[in-house]
Amino acid sequence: MMQTEKLLQNVRLSQTNMRKEILDILDDSSLALSMNEIKLRLKSNYNRVTLYRNLKVLTEKGILHQIHIDRQDSKYVLPLKTDKAGEHDQEHLHFKCLMCNEVKCLTDQHPEQVVLPEGYEKIEVNFVVYGICRTCKNKN
Ligand SMILES: [Zn+2]
Ligand SMILES: [Zn+2]
Repeated sequence: MMQTEKLLQNVRLSQTNMRKEILDILDDSSLALSMNEIKLRLKSNYNRVTLYRNLKVLTEKGILHQIHIDRQDSKYVLPLKTDKAGEHDQEHLHFKCLMCNEVKCLTDQHPEQVVLPEGYEKIEVNFVVYGICRTCKNKN
């Protein structure tokens, strides 16, 4: 059985072609991909709502790791393809290249516990380091 099929089976999700395609695309990619980038790589022509729902359920089941860059731009990675899968359970920093838009998980960089004023509730922590990646830096 392929690794991606096993991932779906582990969380009791049915093996739809779309889910398998999404996982294969992310498995092949060394970079985090946005929904639009995933849509462009899909072989079949699915609508955005179906794609959105599938990304959501795969994220909720813990298969995909969703990176919030800002409200409009969120990217997905398949952490199991890396040897650091477990570290994705922890909050960590992300790096975004301002030239090529590469987004990378900095799984060994953990933000210190943020303490909010009394009565405030934390929903989501979003730490992004903006800069220039090695590939872009070497081009100049
Ligand atoms: Zn770059
Ligand atoms: Zn990450």
